[in-house]
Amino acid sequence: MNYHQYYPVDVINGPGTRCTLFVSGCEHQCPGCYNKSTWRLNSGLPFTAQMEDRIICHLQDTRIRRQGLSLSGGDPLHPANLAPIRRLLQRVRRECPDKDVWMWTGYTLGTLTEAQQQVVALVDVLVDGKFVQDLHDPALIWRGSGNQVIHDLHAQRRLQGASLRASLNAAEISAAMETGDAKGSPAPTGVADTRE
Ligand code: SF4
Repeated sequence: MNYHQYYPVDVINGPGTRCTLFVSGCEHQCPGCYNKSTWRLNSGLPFTAQMEDRIICHLQDTRIRRQGLSLSGGDPLHPANLAPIRRLLQRVRRECPDKDVWMWTGYTLGTLTEAQQQVVALVDVLVDGKFVQDLHDPALIWRGSGNQVIHDLHAQRRLQGASLRASLNAAEISAAMETGDAKGSPAPTGVADTRE
């Protein structure tokens, strides 16, 4: 993978103070793209193991505290970028567990391949969709055009987890009620219920 720009301290691309990486390679060719120079996969500079270490080191820096990492481009979900981006994000998850990850992509969430979904599983917020010039709105925050959507995947996962836990609890309670094991279950027929 190649990259075009790396900002170790950035307050524009996402909330708070962040590290931001613009990778090379994009197949969407949106008319009006502000970053055409990133389209070619071999443009920019090679993303080396040293660069990866540098990003991790900046995210762990306690003098300038970063809220997280932003990945844009180009397209971090370009098929040729998936392996190195996945490796980087696995390190961020392991070595910087308190940092959030934002990602911008021209693909839409509902149409991702399995390999892209595996990378997105490591992302907290995904801003998806091509840039559409007719829908360009400079008042939008963190998006260029109105069709693009900010998906708070972290919040969605938390909600899904809570709802799954609630369903499991309900299923356990209902199973326990059937077997009479649950606290507060009715006393067996013919036995006086002395509970208060
Ligand atoms: S997805 Fe982004 S980088 Fe790619 S062509 Fe569209 S605006 Fe440009």
